[in-house]
Amino acid sequence: MSNIDLNKIWNYTTAKESKDHILLKEKYDLFINGKFVKSKSRKYFNSVNPATDEIIAKISEANKEDINFAVKAANTAFKSWSKLKAKERAKYIFRIARMIQERAKEFAVIESMDGGKPIRESRDIDIPLAANHFFYYAGWADKLEYAFPNTSHEPIGVAGQIIPWNFPLLMAAWKIAPAIACGNTVVLKPAETTSLTALKLAEIIEESGLPKGVVNIVTGGGKTGSEIVNHPNIDKIAFTGSTKVGKLIKRSIAGTHKKLTLELGGKGANIIFEDAAIDQAVEGIINAIFFNQGHVCCAGSRLFVQESIFEIVVEKLKDRMSSLIIGDPLDKNTDIGAINSKEQLATIKKYINIGLEEGGEIYQKKCSISEKGNWFPPTLFLNVSQSHTIVQEEIFGPVLAIQTFRTIDEVIEKANNTPYGLSAGVWTEKGSKIFKLTKELNAGVVWANTYNKFDPTSPFGGVKESGIGREGGLHGLKAYLKFK
Ligand code: NAP
Ligand code: MG
Repeated sequence: MSNIDLNKIWNYTTAKESKDHILLKEKYDLFINGKFVKSKSRKYFNSVNPATDEIIAKISEANKEDINFAVKAANTAFKSWSKLKAKERAKYIFRIARMIQERAKEFAVIESMDGGKPIRESRDIDIPLAANHFFYYAGWADKLEYAFPNTSHEPIGVAGQIIPWNFPLLMAAWKIAPAIACGNTVVLKPAETTSLTALKLAEIIEESGLPKGVVNIVTGGGKTGSEIVNHPNIDKIAFTGSTKVGKLIKRSIAGTHKKLTLELGGKGANIIFEDAAIDQAVEGIINAIFFNQGHVCCAGSRLFVQESIFEIVVEKLKDRMSSLIIGDPLDKNTDIGAINSKEQLATIKKYINIGLEEGGEIYQKKCSISEKGNWFPPTLFLNVSQSHTIVQEEIFGPVLAIQTFRTIDEVIEKANNTPYGLSAGVWTEKGSKIFKLTKELNAGVVWANTYNKFDPTSPFGGVKESGIGREGGLHGLKAYLKFK
């Protein structure tokens, strides 16, 4: 990454221009005990650019022996890291935060190349927020006694952390920063399709001088993940991903000493009342479902429109969809990038077919779609009801299911009627409605007259099948401490 003119990157508008100026290594190894080491498996898998189908790097596949090595390094490091003066721990974490900021452009370009998200999102949201998480938790490291007065607290031990592909660096930051601020050590596995920014973070960690073994980054698929989950010398599992794998993990650690937090799927309800500022709401609804191609656990994937404004809202949504730009994730004008993987594209298509078979009526933005890469147009589903599969199950793509309602009690009942409970949004000018809904909606996060706003100080997480525990803010520290 040395000989790039980073100042120019934002001005590039094509993938080729950006790629030519980004130096990625051909192969990435595992980051264990403070340095990059070859996997005992000697196997590599491809990291692919989902917008072009190009292989952009080869990534090492960690096996059981590698996980043993990483857990051993983390256990040894725990002995001194957990006893280090908290203000010394804070210095390292601040340094990592600053280094992410300094290399924000590299991170943003790699994130968009590897995962398919628009560069505007990587640049303005993912990467700055990742740095901010490190800053925020660095700040807490030496102030834990003020966060939890009158209690004695200790770090838990070695945390095994497993993250998904939708916000790769940001999810790594959400996991690593609070864990090490509290004095734990970490073995983290990124998702198979988007390991590159976690490995770039490993390069920063190496340069930052963080004591060896405090953070270990191991790559590989679900099997590598389950080696972490089932390792006897891991004390805490922090998982973000699908409800299906979350349940599997919960079952496999039942009866062990391991502590667990789970951030799982969602089916967010966005509710618009007739008294809302409609244009502002339509903008928010579009962002809620099409941000990051809908690969967002808290996406507003169900829309409830009060009956009297149904037609005008649908018309305005269609109108706004017509101006969305779909295409090259590295083009700064792009609104909607590539679908993260062929598997995810197949899942989205499967749900579209189910929606149609069950009688849903589809509206899609017309756009020409390149033969290479994985693309899916922004989609609305009308004529659907509570029992439809696409209203109940998470699609994790740019697909919005629209229903109507008459009264506030009816919409609360409908919004709460899924197995999930992660997020919801409310659009109304009436404060009294906002108070009632934030209380009665069964979700971990409720936004009012906005959507998809994140901040390191705010706790995030779900109820019901959306998970256990909270990340972010003070709550995020509790997940990494034992209280006496
Ligand atoms: P996933 O299939 O559950 O994978 C998540 C992570 O777990 C990946 O690193 C994956 O590795 C690994 N994994 C797969 N099988 C495993 C196993 N048996 N044991 C241990 N680890 C295993 O989910 P995904 O498709 O990547 O991500 C999408 C899901 O994440 C959605 O449901 C979304 O709602 C949820 N999500 C939730 C939040 C939240 O904060 N609540 C945030 C983001 C995403 P591979 O990638 O190598 O398969
Ligand atoms: Mg990739």
